[in-house]
Amino acid sequence: MLTAISGINWGDEGKGRMVDLLSSEYDIVVRYQGGNNAGHTVINERGKFILNLLPSGILREEVINVMGNGMVIDIKHLVEEMGRLQAAGIKITPDNLKISDKAAICMPYHISRDCLEEARLSDKKFGSTRRGIAPSYGDKYMKKSIRMGELFDEKALKERLTDIVEWENLMVAGVYGAEPISVSAMAEHLKKYGDIIKPFISDVSLYLDEQAKKGKKIMFEAQLGALRDIDFGIYPFTSSSNSIAAYAPIGAGIPNHKLDLSIGIMKAYSTCVGEGPFTVEYFGDKAEKLRQAGNEYGAATGRPRRVGPFDVVASKYGIRMQGADEIALTKLDVLSDMDEIEVCVAYEKDGKQTTDFPFPQGLENYKPIFKTFKGWKQDISGCRKKEDLPKEALEYIEFIEKATGAKIKYVSVGAEREAYIIF
Ligand code: GDP
Ligand code: MG
Repeated sequence: MLTAISGINWGDEGKGRMVDLLSSEYDIVVRYQGGNNAGHTVINERGKFILNLLPSGILREEVINVMGNGMVIDIKHLVEEMGRLQAAGIKITPDNLKISDKAAICMPYHISRDCLEEARLSDKKFGSTRRGIAPSYGDKYMKKSIRMGELFDEKALKERLTDIVEWENLMVAGVYGAEPISVSAMAEHLKKYGDIIKPFISDVSLYLDEQAKKGKKIMFEAQLGALRDIDFGIYPFTSSSNSIAAYAPIGAGIPNHKLDLSIGIMKAYSTCVGEGPFTVEYFGDKAEKLRQAGNEYGAATGRPRRVGPFDVVASKYGIRMQGADEIALTKLDVLSDMDEIEVCVAYEKDGKQTTDFPFPQGLENYKPIFKTFKGWKQDISGCRKKEDLPKEALEYIEFIEKATGAKIKYVSVGAEREAYIIF
């Protein structure tokens, strides 16, 4: 049984908490793309945890966690994240964490290049998290990545590193005029952190293939939403990897297997981190009220998230791109204080309306068309059954379901593990 959990919108839909909840039914949780630009917040009986690189299944003792070849991994950050969780009593050993030998390593010079480029772009910046993700993926496709499996042959690694650093310096020192990178410092970095994580590295592709054939239940955990996918998102304001569910078997190392189930995580309103067109964006007091109600500040960066009402156009597109069989609608409780709740039902340009998501370049020329719903104005965070929900909340859910073609299976009404309703 292979299940993907992915975001329908711009990310931060609450994927981490849904993986944490649903992973009780799974044997293995796999991260298949992205790096430590992800920020998943999970609250359970053991405390509050922020995960950037580790799969959310790490918080369940009986779950085995895999970091796939589709990821770019900052080994210093990984060692620190593991240390933080271990200090909080979470068990992390080579038995419950496996790292692909084919995953690319995100190096300190990737972070430098990320920062240098954002500084060069100045007010035209893309809103990078400055964690080296785009340069890491760029290098991967330029075939200049160092991959996890290379840590085992120090001599060969040093030779490749020397070549790569020479090339990196053409950019870092030559183009940006920054301090050149030293091979020995990079070799030391790889040795220091590489030695700690070597015991976790293996051919996870072979492992996952065997486990899938044995009928084990495998869950793929995405970072970011459909609208941040490198191909299908709001390019160039996207992430640098494919976040869509269809990429999960590839980024995990088992392209010979097909997904059995795609679960899409969709927020009851819209949020967006970083730059780029965001059609439904609220500003001023309206924005501040929603941002505070939803506590919309980045888990990885603390940046205030841009907010707006639910977007039927973008979500319908996200559902199609994720091939979502089932939807978890999250954070419905955040809307409880509102007298009226707006939903964007179409985009309009030159007097023409559409519900098909447009080509991203020119997206800023579309205006949102809103429909207004009556709010329920009562606390729903204690609701655990569909029948507990007020009539207005049920109407809101029903409308979203119809308008987007979603099959809503879960509705979450609080950040805690048990704060959800099965539909
Ligand atoms: P992810 O990146 O998709 O995993 O999402 P994040 O963890 O970045 O953002 C989701 C935030 O919403 C986290 O702070 C969660 O604790 C919180 N959250 C998740 N589900 C709910 C919910 O149903 N209600 C409320 N109020 N908060 C939630
Ligand atoms: Mg997040």
